Amino acid sequence: MTGFNTRAIHAGQEPDPRTGAVAVPIYATSTYKQDGVGGLREGYEYSRSANPTRTALEEALAALENGVRGLAFASGLAAEDTLLRTVCRPGDHVILPGDAYGGTFRLVARVLTNWGVEYTPVPLADLDAVRAAIRPSTKVIWCETPTNPLLGIADIEALAGIAHEAGARLVVDNTFASPYLQQPIALGADVVVHSTTKYLGGHSDVVGGALIAADATLGDELAFHQNAMGAIAGPFDSWLVLRGIKTLGVRMDRHCTNAGAVVDFLTAHPAVSSVLYPGLPSHPNHDVAARQMSGFGGMVSFTLKGGEETALKVCGLVSLFTLGESLGGVESLIEHPGRMTHASVAGSPLEVPNDLVRLSVGIEDIGDLIDDLTSALA
Ligand code: PLP
Repeated sequence: MTGFNTRAIHAGQEPDPRTGAVAVPIYATSTYKQDGVGGLREGYEYSRSANPTRTALEEALAALENGVRGLAFASGLAAEDTLLRTVCRPGDHVILPGDAYGGTFRLVARVLTNWGVEYTPVPLADLDAVRAAIRPSTKVIWCETPTNPLLGIADIEALAGIAHEAGARLVVDNTFASPYLQQPIALGADVVVHSTTKYLGGHSDVVGGALIAADATLGDELAFHQNAMGAIAGPFDSWLVLRGIKTLGVRMDRHCTNAGAVVDFLTAHPAVSSVLYPGLPSHPNHDVAARQMSGFGGMVSFTLKGGEETALKVCGLVSLFTLGESLGGVESLIEHPGRMTHASVAGSPLEVPNDLVRLSVGIEDIGDLIDDLTSALA
């Protein structure tokens, strides 16, 4: 098999056979001419079922995650909804991370429960607690590692073992690490989920999602539901993610280096009470992160001695870091999870500390990023 960066540029992206176009064309078409009734050209009949630009992205996604089938969706949550309603039936049970991304928690707790799915939030770093939460009806252990926004780390290989012993599937949301830093299928995951909005797209210009299945049977079931439920990625969005993927490796290297420097700065700063980053030896699961990740990523969270008031002030005082939701783009972002991305879990067991600030460290010059944080924290 070729190396990661070669696959990122070439998998699914052969030059166009008709014109030789090196970049995959954006096939802005809803339907395809048939050569006589049922005479499909290369299987394309209608763009909800399949579109060549989306196919290119789906093949690239499968190649990068070492899965057998990639599927591209309109958003990360569309991918999650399709997955859960493929592998669960009313009455089934899902184990969620104790600090799951708020949107995943809301999808399960406020939408899928109406459909009869049951769930238990569990701190996934506590493997005994995960074992204790398993029921005969458990179909999915949902793992996010690192987690959003607390940067918790779960042991993918150990969770795969627990899930499979119970006849359940391990799903890994690999959005924060990206396939460049972490390969969940090689560690035993059955399905990988992405918000391609983040590092895979990488330029804050597209909303999208992906599923990558480790086996062909599940891949076929997911593809059936993708078409039946219809939450597909359109051709232009697919093309944007495909273009982003080509530079994933070089971007991730720079995200990791810049985040490491920001972590060093914050750790030494007197206004900061704690820094959450899997690369820190003081992180409770640093050894697991070091084993299963090839770098620690671009996301950094920290708490402030001055509490919520100071956290909100810092978010308003930065100028190069942009105050905004989302993450994983080339530009640095700052946010207050309690009031912004994670407001939907306020009052639930997943509520986040109100003195927490989350950074998505971009790929700008590190000196400028540190200068910006220095003046905001002064
Ligand atoms: N998973 C994680 C870890 C996320 O951070 C997000 C969005 O922030 C999602 C899933 C949902 O993705 P989307 O916003 O593309 O629907």
